[in-house]
Amino acid sequence: MTAIEKSYYCGASTTQIIYETIGGFFDRVAEKHPDSQALILRHQGVEWTYAELQRRVDQLAAGLLALGIVPGDRVGIWGPNSAEWVLTQLATAKLGAIMVCINPAYRLYELEYALNKVECKALITDESFKTSDYLGMLNTLAPELEYCEPGALASTKLPKLKHVIRMGSSSSAGMHNFDQVCELATDADRAALVGLQTQLKPDDAINIQFTSGTTGNPKGATLSHCNILNNGYLTGEAMRLTPADKLCIPVPLYHCFGMVLAVLACVSHGATMVFPGEAFDPQQTLQTVQDERCTALHGVPTMFITELDHPNFSSFDLSSLRTGIMAGAPCPIEVMKRVISEMHMRDILIAYGQTELSPINNITLPDDSLERRTETVGRAMPWVEIKVIDDAGHVVPVGEKGEICTRGYSVMQGYWNDPEKTAETIDAAGWLHSGDIATMDACGYVRIVGRIKDMIIRGGENVYPREVEEFLYQHPAISEVQVFGIPDKKMGEEVCAWVQLNEGATLSADDIKAFCKDQITHFKIPRHIRFVSEYPMTVTGKIQKFVMRDEMLASLNQNT
Ligand code: AMP
Repeated sequence: MTAIEKSYYCGASTTQIIYETIGGFFDRVAEKHPDSQALILRHQGVEWTYAELQRRVDQLAAGLLALGIVPGDRVGIWGPNSAEWVLTQLATAKLGAIMVCINPAYRLYELEYALNKVECKALITDESFKTSDYLGMLNTLAPELEYCEPGALASTKLPKLKHVIRMGSSSSAGMHNFDQVCELATDADRAALVGLQTQLKPDDAINIQFTSGTTGNPKGATLSHCNILNNGYLTGEAMRLTPADKLCIPVPLYHCFGMVLAVLACVSHGATMVFPGEAFDPQQTLQTVQDERCTALHGVPTMFITELDHPNFSSFDLSSLRTGIMAGAPCPIEVMKRVISEMHMRDILIAYGQTELSPINNITLPDDSLERRTETVGRAMPWVEIKVIDDAGHVVPVGEKGEICTRGYSVMQGYWNDPEKTAETIDAAGWLHSGDIATMDACGYVRIVGRIKDMIIRGGENVYPREVEEFLYQHPAISEVQVFGIPDKKMGEEVCAWVQLNEGATLSADDIKAFCKDQITHFKIPRHIRFVSEYPMTVTGKIQKFVMRDEMLASLNQNT
């Protein structure tokens, strides 16, 4: 290709965009590969073919229809990775209901906010996971469950929520059971589900993912069939997936990494999804790759680092591996090289994107040079335009830094019920402004060099300082708080808070951590807390977080 001079590049392709619904596309794949293995969940003893998966998806979709869930209704899903989670994703898509991904680590404050923000009519929930007692938290928020009929919840705190559908074999007051919902449908419901298929449209919203942005409370990025089906499909194409492939999925389903780059990438290619457990565990992941002879493995950089550093790493046979995706945070070059040589993943790809982009924007390809495959995030995916702009909005010459922006099929529809925030992110010409700083070279390869926003990425999980600050401001003893990230060898970054107390108030770091516990997700709770009487400021009164970051790092290094 001729070298480009300005940092603008459009991903080309010889194939068409798939202009279909997820349900329609899934049915065709399942009918083409009925006997291929679709889903393996080792921790649940599940092994289903595509025919079996399709049968169960239809059963659940018709069961939800029988409950009165109709296209456009919001259905939340809350829990770690499970077969029920995958079924819910595909069944809600088949039914045209909008699946709302609730982070399995959310606590009361976050759950209430999320369910109300997008007005969920139903919530499908696991029983518990690690320290999260999902059913207990729901009963705390909606004590009305204790005496209501299943499906007739009338809760003061969760006014729009009618149905709570619990997984597991036990039953709970006021809730449906997942398995029973699958048995509910009549012939009329099944016929209605078939009839619905001609009414659903590829541009209908089908998924809401919460992303915190820089501005406090989480925003519901709203994605359509066309957004995520194409992004998943094209990711599978970049990985050269076929029905012979088995992808090991230790990444969470509630994030696009799991539900799009893993589930939809596999489902659109008739490949096998293999889940090693409910959540990431390095030993379980390595064991699963070995036992199932997986050909592909996904992960955020921290996951690959933990796998490579596992004390028994060399005892696992990983020779079946070929490809996979590393994404979600900057991918260190040395880690990429080790994954290629020590994990046999000669075709590992780096992907870059964000939830608002369904989520992948850029990807490296197996035939790119080793240098490009380890040092860049690749070029634009097919069908998307990318540009790097300066503060005035002009495209910068190649090699110069600026904000990376994207336009194309993958741009979200907007933030749910938040036209103001949507307009701050997607401009009038349709460009989504990422907040990430990047450079583009003369062949269109992009390097991510920083973030305009102050987001902290801790172990692949995004923590937005403003959200934590806003929560801490609720403490009566706290007058001012600043949250920022510092580099951390293991987690990539760690959350720090500088706290100023009200006159005469006393509080310890442990008190603050206790205040956060069970209210906000564990990874958002500041690890390092310092009490201060003032903050470093510029002459114009802007707080300088980078000064705090440097000072904090220096004092922590002194103490170790
Ligand atoms: P999320 O919306 O959770 O997918 O987070 C998106 C953010 O993660 C992006 O805006 C980037 O700041 C960061 N990110 C994702 N992938 C990469 C990557 N490959 N390299 C560097 N940063 C990344």
